[in-house]
Amino acid sequence: MSQPLLEVRKATKVYGGGLFRTGPTTVALQDLNLTILERPATITTIAGESGSGKTTLANIVLGFTKPTSGEILYRGADVAAMNKQQLMAYRKEVQAVFQDPYAVYNPFYRVKHIFDMVIKNFKMASNKREARELIEDALNVVGMRGEEVLEKYPHQLSGGQRQRMMVARAYMLKPRLIVADEPVSMVDASLRAMILDIMLRLRDEHNISFLYITHDLSTAYQIGDQIYLLYQGSTAERGETVQVIENPKHPYVQMLIDSIPVPDPEVRWGSSDVTTLDDEQMRTTVQSGCRFYGRCSYRMDRCLEAAPPLYPINTSSHEAACYLYDVEHAPEKVTA
Ligand code: SF4
Repeated sequence: MSQPLLEVRKATKVYGGGLFRTGPTTVALQDLNLTILERPATITTIAGESGSGKTTLANIVLGFTKPTSGEILYRGADVAAMNKQQLMAYRKEVQAVFQDPYAVYNPFYRVKHIFDMVIKNFKMASNKREARELIEDALNVVGMRGEEVLEKYPHQLSGGQRQRMMVARAYMLKPRLIVADEPVSMVDASLRAMILDIMLRLRDEHNISFLYITHDLSTAYQIGDQIYLLYQGSTAERGETVQVIENPKHPYVQMLIDSIPVPDPEVRWGSSDVTTLDDEQMRTTVQSGCRFYGRCSYRMDRCLEAAPPLYPINTSSHEAACYLYDVEHAPEKVTA
């Protein structure tokens, strides 16, 4: 069996509490476990509403914030304990593509600058010709040519061009993993299809895995291999994307998928407001037990005692964090 490329082990992130950790806190991520294997390259979707912890997870994997507890292992090595050389390799092999590419560009520099900086920082070329070849090769992968874009300023490019250039910049480093945080949420439908297609080609032809962060289940369904659906910082359900989306088990995931109003490919799942109670209130009042309790039509007394672990559904990879699937104390099951 393939070795893990990335392992997230019991990652927890708590904000607030103050200097003496006695003030109010918000748990952004709780005991989250996730594994991405070396091979084959896959697209793992992290989906959920805003406040579910998906961007916190992305930031932890990218090293922008440290987990309060838990570990991030890359090829078996703890990222927090890496030496300078290992960290440099990790930063090269784990790249990011963000929702708003414009924010990444410096408006005063021509766009070529973002490629030059990467080549310089990672000492990737010994002369200008080599550098230009690397840039052209990366741009070709996303269907662009250097002469069309490199001498322009960021505002002279379309949103789609800026986003494809960010993918090219990430690709140039020959990463093993790209953390893509809502990469298509600010582009129109045709560009969305083009960028999703580029992600699939990078996975299949260049062995690059993705951690694809999104609130949009329709694009996850189109391209994702595995999916983790987060609710208030914890995994509510995970498994193979098609299985989970076509046969959701957790009451929250069923609610999300039921919220799709019409079978129209232009209607994006998860984009409607499905909140029935004040989420922030739930976050602070339900300190133990299932965090979905206040919104759940199947809630039982037991659900308040402790947070439910992930229970297997029929296959080993499909799991739901809900007591309805505890076969040893099985209540009546929910049908999707
Ligand atoms: Fe609902 Fe209980 Fe399952 Fe939570 S554990 S989703 S409250 S049935």
